[in-house]
Amino acid sequence: MTSIAQNISKLKGSLPEEVTLIAVSKKKPVEALQEAYDAGQRAFGENYIQELVDKQAILPTDIEWHFIGHLQSNKVKYIAPFVHLIHGVDSLKLLKEINKQGLKNDRIIPVLLQFHIAEESTKFGLNQDECEALLNNEVFAQLENVKVCGLMGMASFTDDKQQVQSEFEHLASLFKKIKLHPSIDSEHFQHLSMGMSGDYPIAIEAGATLVRVGSAIFGARN
Ligand SMILES: *Cc1c(COP(=O)(O)O)cnc(C)c1O
Repeated sequence: MTSIAQNISKLKGSLPEEVTLIAVSKKKPVEALQEAYDAGQRAFGENYIQELVDKQAILPTDIEWHFIGHLQSNKVKYIAPFVHLIHGVDSLKLLKEINKQGLKNDRIIPVLLQFHIAEESTKFGLNQDECEALLNNEVFAQLENVKVCGLMGMASFTDDKQQVQSEFEHLASLFKKIKLHPSIDSEHFQHLSMGMSGDYPIAIEAGATLVRVGSAIFGARN
């Protein structure tokens, strides 16, 4: 067994059955992804559009491609035909463009709303008020080719486990609240994407259904 295969089988053995492992393969060559695929891995996460499109064209067609990076509206068209789930959606503008491309491709594209839960400041991710404003907007109700299937977030980059835990628990409580919003299709609102190589056990404890693990599978990136 290669070390990638070993890492995957060790990780899968440690995850509860209901948690899906997304192998984050950004900046890794297709050979590394193929090794993970041969070890049974089917869900892959990428951050960059061009890289994702190039890899998708070469690798097996039964891979589920997750886009986990920051998505610009003008790039949605490149992944709309095949993307399995878009994790980082944080604006109505982006939802409208995903809807438009979903319509063009005759499909309903599943997305997660990204929340800002960490203490580091960044321009990405919603807070609760912004999310409610988005869901209450009458335009949102008209988007038939995009489906909000849950939430995504990233904890602070810190050794303080307590803090990471409370940030994940905060996202889990937001998930429960937003699931009840009248504009949300609660039956399909089922995913909580949180946890990376350094903190996925804490995320699972807090209720993650999708964990996004890169370096613990493929080794460090440069
Ligand atoms: C890179 C990345 C990951 C994976 O990070 P690791 O620490 O390598 O596991 C997960 N989520 C997002 C959004 C990322 O950009």
